[in-house]
Amino acid sequence: MAFKPADRIQDLQYFGEFGGVNPSISDSSTYTFLSAKTMFDTFEGNAEGCYLYSRHSTPSNLYLGQALAAMEGTETANVAASGMGAITPAIMQLCKGGDHIVASRTIYGGTYAFLKNFAPQFNIETSFVDITKLDEVEASITPKTKIIYCESVSNPLLEIADIEEISKIAKKHGLKLLVDNTFSPLSISPAKLGADVVLHSLTKFINGSSDTMGGVACGTQEFIDELRNVNDGANMLLGPAMDSLRAASILKNLRTLHIRMKQHSHNALNLAQKFEADGLKTVYPGLKSHPGHELFKKMMNPEYGFGGMMTIDVGSLDKANELMELMQERNLGYLAVSLGFYKTLFSAPGTSTSSEIPEEEQKEMGLSDGLIRFSIGLDNDIERTYEMMKACMIKVGVLNATTVSEVL
Ligand SMILES: *Cc1c(COP(=O)(O)O)cnc(C)c1O
Repeated sequence: MAFKPADRIQDLQYFGEFGGVNPSISDSSTYTFLSAKTMFDTFEGNAEGCYLYSRHSTPSNLYLGQALAAMEGTETANVAASGMGAITPAIMQLCKGGDHIVASRTIYGGTYAFLKNFAPQFNIETSFVDITKLDEVEASITPKTKIIYCESVSNPLLEIADIEEISKIAKKHGLKLLVDNTFSPLSISPAKLGADVVLHSLTKFINGSSDTMGGVACGTQEFIDELRNVNDGANMLLGPAMDSLRAASILKNLRTLHIRMKQHSHNALNLAQKFEADGLKTVYPGLKSHPGHELFKKMMNPEYGFGGMMTIDVGSLDKANELMELMQERNLGYLAVSLGFYKTLFSAPGTSTSSEIPEEEQKEMGLSDGLIRFSIGLDNDIERTYEMMKACMIKVGVLNATTVSEVL
């Protein structure tokens, strides 16, 4: 039977302390015990349902974690203060000095910088591969490899990882597969395709209002317990704990994620099809021209579409900057990094979110100067938005008024 992530979120029922329709927020950093023995057992991780100290867990954080685990179809989850606060502890929990990682070369700039510059200080080395070439992935595995790391839909190039096939490689070699699913919540369910740990930056689509940061690692109870272990748990000891007030607000926004994702996908597909027809170099997984289109279709939960992320290559950084400034001036969105907001966001990843990646490596992976990454918003009338965006493109000379499909 098809996996229905939004139905699983809908089926969660919470009551607040006074019968509220939202769960009560736990406004405490520390918790009392009626017996000293229970406090000791809680420290040891043997007292189910007891709270100790908020860096470990809080009722609000557990509610959010439970909902995200339901969405991803994992046993449980651990929320963190940011996406990086979820990603780096998950990696550090699984890899120790001397270990090796195989990672996609087209990943979030922060994760790339962590693996490239930070982890080697702990003698953890990473081989970066083209994740769409499965033989390259397998050939990079060494006896020291512990994990394969990738994004379902990569940032910023929107390459699609064949999670099912990569998980087979991981299992064959006794490795864990970690998948960052930030770009495709609901659309793709990596754990259902064989991923061992599913990671998200909640800062993006899941929260959706660009007002807070958050992250989550979804996985087995055993792995999440390890992350929270008071003696050697990376989340417990590195300390990227989410605040309960934030957990409560993200949980409320999660309840509308399915409606938002459908609209993001609808709008992005619409614009991508039109701009491609106008002759612009448009990359969107929902386009037949996208090399990963069939693969995405095979993996996806179809009702949520191909997501809200799209790129257009306008040729040069100067043109990209001119266009983005004009689009912001005309209130089509914001020249800002991040994604998943209700307004469209755009940035040139080569000089912003992926600037951690050296220029020659950017070139090698196909990240060009003129690339604009769009996170398409929830605009009600996307036809109107298209006309307004097209007018900007004609004004800066990215589109020629006489060659576009329909003259203004
Ligand atoms: C933003 C992002 C992250 C990092 O998350 P933060 O919440 O900014 O720490 C990781 N992966 C992807 C794909 C992202 O877009």
